[in-house]
Amino acid sequence: MHELMATQEMVRSLLNVCQEKGIEKPLKQVDLEIGELTTYEKEPFHYYYDLLKKEHSLLAESVLSVEMVLGKLHCEDCGSENFISKEIELFCKECGGSNTRIIQGKDIIIKKIEI
Ligand SMILES: [Zn+2]
Repeated sequence: MHELMATQEMVRSLLNVCQEKGIEKPLKQVDLEIGELTTYEKEPFHYYYDLLKKEHSLLAESVLSVEMVLGKLHCEDCGSENFISKEIELFCKECGGSNTRIIQGKDIIIKKIEI
């Protein structure tokens, strides 16, 4: 169910992007990237997007494409990057250090829109 709110927010930012860029023609495609660490699933996004897009003439005909991206952990000590699927994996797989930060996988990103 929490995907509904996330999709609503995504639709809002999508409309903002259109406004900022002065896009007035209906969109054909929207490419979305969802980080695995958000714990969101792909299918509900498609489902809710298809419901929500009908309320906006700019989005009504657009097709949503969703790509899931793995979480990525950067180690400040040894510089290596580790792919992670859960946010609790905070130790570097190379050196075992905990001086790490997540650099990918926590966000929903609008990658591309096609008019
Ligand atoms: Zn390390």
